[in-house]
Amino acid sequence: MKRFLPDFAYDEIAAEFAPSFRAAQIFQWVYRRYVTDFEQISTLPKTMRADLAERFTLEGVAIAAKQTSEDGSVKYLFRLADGHTIEAVLLLMREEQRDDEEHTLKQAQYTICLSTQVGCKIGCAFCMTAKGGFERNLSAGEIVSQVLLIKRDRLMDAEKGLNIVYMGMGEPLDNLDNVAKAIAILSCKDGLNISPRRQTLSTSGISPKIAALGKMNLGVLLAISLHAVDNETRLRLMPINKAYDIASIIAAVRAYPIDLRKRVMFEYLMIKGINDSLECAKKLVKLLSGLRAKVNLIAFNPHEGSDFERPSAAAIEAFQRLLLDRGLLCVVRQSRGIDIDAACGQLRERLGVKAALV
Ligand code: SAH
Ligand code: SF4
Repeated sequence: MKRFLPDFAYDEIAAEFAPSFRAAQIFQWVYRRYVTDFEQISTLPKTMRADLAERFTLEGVAIAAKQTSEDGSVKYLFRLADGHTIEAVLLLMREEQRDDEEHTLKQAQYTICLSTQVGCKIGCAFCMTAKGGFERNLSAGEIVSQVLLIKRDRLMDAEKGLNIVYMGMGEPLDNLDNVAKAIAILSCKDGLNISPRRQTLSTSGISPKIAALGKMNLGVLLAISLHAVDNETRLRLMPINKAYDIASIIAAVRAYPIDLRKRVMFEYLMIKGINDSLECAKKLVKLLSGLRAKVNLIAFNPHEGSDFERPSAAAIEAFQRLLLDRGLLCVVRQSRGIDIDAACGQLRERLGVKAALV
């Protein structure tokens, strides 16, 4: 069976195609020139192209559907080789700015939110992905391909810088080996060239795996989905809290490599009447004291079949104000793409798990 090329790191390709500059050429043509057929790699000798095509394929992930939001964000549904579907979202963080003569002053800025698994085992009460259960891990190539296919679909300049967040479907630390490999492939200079510092891994808090990630020293930034300040509430929202409670997560963050620890982000999903009181805000300040943390407040994104509600804008603002007043860095994450159900798992659910068409 042919192997899926995006599953392979630069060194692995270099080991099969000597001399080593051949690997650079293959990476450049696949990830920077967006070829879909090895035959198009005109700088490779014909025999090597044939050899490549005999052993490898570029087919394995395809765009099945997309939906554009009013704010310019685009949600993609991808179909994998075995028929499963996953989602990724291209988030427009800043629009292009032009002067009166239509010259670009500032380029548009994008962040891509990637999936790491088909479904998820963690089963958080508020999450759409959790509803479908767990199917399987994504391979490194299936993770990398989400970025490649979005860039190719948009005909995005290869030089265009992007940020990556592993905040789509799945728990990245539950698929750490493949995610680590994807981080490395995405950062390859001859390929997509996205530095690990521009990649943020978000986890529900599997404490021992946070330690393992720290030891790997990949240079990736860490985000913790905290969502509650006491174990009782957190357990209600996230069953994983039974195995790894809040104290164990904070301890794991304190032990994370120093330069990266400085910028750990804590995500706090605000749900009306559950974790949105000022009492909670005070406890949050206490919990994170001594950590150079940044808090990302997210308003719950309602979906069908969920009993939770989104807090009022005033409640979110009051919560944020308290944190800021006490010196805790805090931003309210804009609900980009809210009209396209951009909380991952929602498009897939709505279109049916094995959606067919663009
Ligand atoms: N499994 C990892 C990464 C994927 S989830 C994690 O949990 O961190 C990415 C983020 O989306 C998490 O912070 C999660 O809490 C948030 N999320 C899930 N469902 C949501 C919803 N309905 N509204 C808003 N955010 C949601
Ligand atoms: Fe999994 Fe994250 Fe959803 Fe929880 S929030 S079920 S960990 S994807």
